[in-house]
Amino acid sequence: MRILILGGTTEASQLARLLADDNRFEPTLSLAGRTASPKPQPLLTRIGGFGGVVGLEAWLRENGISAVIDATHPYAAQISAHAVDACNALSVPLASILRAAWRRASGDEWIEVETPAAAAAALGSEPKRVFLSLGRLELTAFAAAPQHHYIARTIDPPGEVSLPPNIQFVHDRGPFDAAEEEAFLADRRVAIIVSKNSGGAATYPKIAAARRLRLPVVMIDRPNKPHGVALDSPEGAMHWLEAQLAHRAPSSRRGV
Ligand code: NAP
Repeated sequence: MRILILGGTTEASQLARLLADDNRFEPTLSLAGRTASPKPQPLLTRIGGFGGVVGLEAWLRENGISAVIDATHPYAAQISAHAVDACNALSVPLASILRAAWRRASGDEWIEVETPAAAAAALGSEPKRVFLSLGRLELTAFAAAPQHHYIARTIDPPGEVSLPPNIQFVHDRGPFDAAEEEAFLADRRVAIIVSKNSGGAATYPKIAAARRLRLPVVMIDRPNKPHGVALDSPEGAMHWLEAQLAHRAPSSRRGV
């Protein structure tokens, strides 16, 4: 059974490992191509956008895809909307791995805002040292608050995007442990953090470190992300795929 995994996340990489030696499925992993050197994957991988809903629909049809798993990041809302529309149009089953959001714990000082622009405004007028734990496209919003000193951690250099004048880059790829995050924030004399509520364990240590150092976190809300059948883990995705296989008509299993 040919399947498509929309990836770019820890969960997608975990699912890729679960599928790697399973000859019941012929999976393709799709990455958007945002990072210059993505982690090697044990599955056939295609890189780059499909060209909107129409392009995704054409790709699903041309590749004879029988099921799609959306394992994209909680803030990647557009590709998920396209997956819902394309799978509906073709009656291809779609399931989505939904990562639970982080919950505020005792000692957390979160300022919740809806957009990167609102996060920039929430930093206030007094100059501060700000850690931006965001993607490169979200950094542009901080050009509107040039009074702060920013420290941005990204995997690759930001490329041609407008940036605040006083910004320093640290290029690194997580995960980072709690002790490393605490040392990073203290060494750089960070006064406030801007983060997405990504959920999951891989990037949580910075939130725990902020709590211990009593630093406020400006938390950008999650977008509305359309989804298919809701799953909570890569293992859940395997069970769902097995159920799709079991429900297929014998004729389609013979490829007739
Ligand atoms: P997005 O806003 O939802 O999607 C923008 C466009 O990028 C889509 O319309 C699609 O282009 C293309 N695209 C996105 N994900 C794709 C995939 N897995 N395979 C092929 N094309 C894809 O997405 P985004 O927020 O830019 O995220 C891009 C990728 O980075 C995703 O794979 C996501 O899981 C990963 N990621 C995102 C974040 C985040 O904070 N947004 C964080 C970590 C990882 P076409 O319309 O041309 O098909």
